[in-house]
Amino acid sequence: MRTKVMKFGGSSVANAETIKAVFDIVSHENSESIFIVVSAQSGITDNLTQTISDPEMLNKIKGRLTNLISDLKLDPNLIQDLLKSLSIDLNKNLPSQEKQALVISYGERISATIISAFFNSQGFSNEVIDTSNFFITDSNFLNAQYDVSESKKHINNFLNASSHKNFIVTGFIASDSKGNVTTLGRGGSDLTATLLGQIVNAEEVEIWSDTNGIASADPRIISDTISLKKVSYDEAIELSSFGAKIIYARSLIPSIETDTPVLIKNTFNPKSPGTLISSSTEENTFSIATKKETSIITIYNPKMIGAVGYLSALFKRIEDLALSVDVVSVSEATVSFTISKLSKELIPNILENLSNLGRVTIEDDRATLAVISKHLNHKQNTLSHSIDILSKNNIDIDMISYGNSEINLTIVFKEKELEKATTLIHKEFLSYTR
Ligand code: ASP
Ligand code: MG
Repeated sequence: MRTKVMKFGGSSVANAETIKAVFDIVSHENSESIFIVVSAQSGITDNLTQTISDPEMLNKIKGRLTNLISDLKLDPNLIQDLLKSLSIDLNKNLPSQEKQALVISYGERISATIISAFFNSQGFSNEVIDTSNFFITDSNFLNAQYDVSESKKHINNFLNASSHKNFIVTGFIASDSKGNVTTLGRGGSDLTATLLGQIVNAEEVEIWSDTNGIASADPRIISDTISLKKVSYDEAIELSSFGAKIIYARSLIPSIETDTPVLIKNTFNPKSPGTLISSSTEENTFSIATKKETSIITIYNPKMIGAVGYLSALFKRIEDLALSVDVVSVSEATVSFTISKLSKELIPNILENLSNLGRVTIEDDRATLAVISKHLNHKQNTLSHSIDILSKNNIDIDMISYGNSEINLTIVFKEKELEKATTLIHKEFLSYTR
């Protein structure tokens, strides 16, 4: 059976108008079986989190969802049971993360209930799959790790008993082996979609959101970006781990395992071809990922020259400090690494923990720019051109990293130069691709 998974994010299901646009997209689909994974209405996950400390918030949520149901001309009592059980769960005395996972799971459960009822009312016969009954994870409530074979067993049992071919599926939520509700991490509905794609052997997974796929650079920084037709899994992983909000980084793992292509599409511009993430890429494709709020920590110690085990001692300290390192650069007597969003309160702790390894300096107000392309190594002089163009324009480079995989060239410089540097390098690479 030709099966497709289509995931619609929070902004795609935000209100009656957008849900009708989603219906229009799905009703033109000709796969024999469709799994439609939905997020909570945009903002609802945050609002639900707030209800734990601010019970007033619950009325706001109820108001918005009740209006949505009436705009879609559905049964006014449609979500009464869910809202009642949400109120009961809000009064439960549970460990904080367990309670938060349980409370925010209502966002996706309510969303799936509403969308399923609306689709049924339009003649698109379907059934809800509440993944908190079928997707099995560990008990890391807010960032759970899934178990593919257990989840597959449960889903297949359900599907064998169902007479439906089309399903509306809750994104984001799952449960541990004891039946407590867990979540896959913020933005995790993408992972629900790819995991389901793996379990049901989908031909393709589509992720529908509100941009025309992956852009060649962050459109909030420069205006003349192009949208990429095809990128490889590796490139997409580099991009999403870099903070480009195209797809939840972990969500590519199931797709890579089964080599299931992932197509990124725009609900608000369905004619746009989107970006296909698969095992292949286009010859001339590249993208630039950027990150503000980068800090550089440098440790200078001449005793490090020729010493054995120095880096491992340093990285052990970094692990103890729970710092996540982005870029590292090592010379004989210095090690520099970058941290993003380093909070000021941590600085005394870092200085105290690292200073007996050498002289420590911390520079902030930096930005990181990465040029990502599978074909970086084919482009003669990529490295020299990038450096050349920045230095010709008086942009001081603080750090560079160019790994052996040659898929990612990373440059760190002052944050105030970010727009200028992105514009220059983007223009340079665009000239190669045209
Ligand atoms: N609703 C969840 C969130 O806002 C999951 C998702 O949308 O992917 O993070
Ligand atoms: Mg998302």
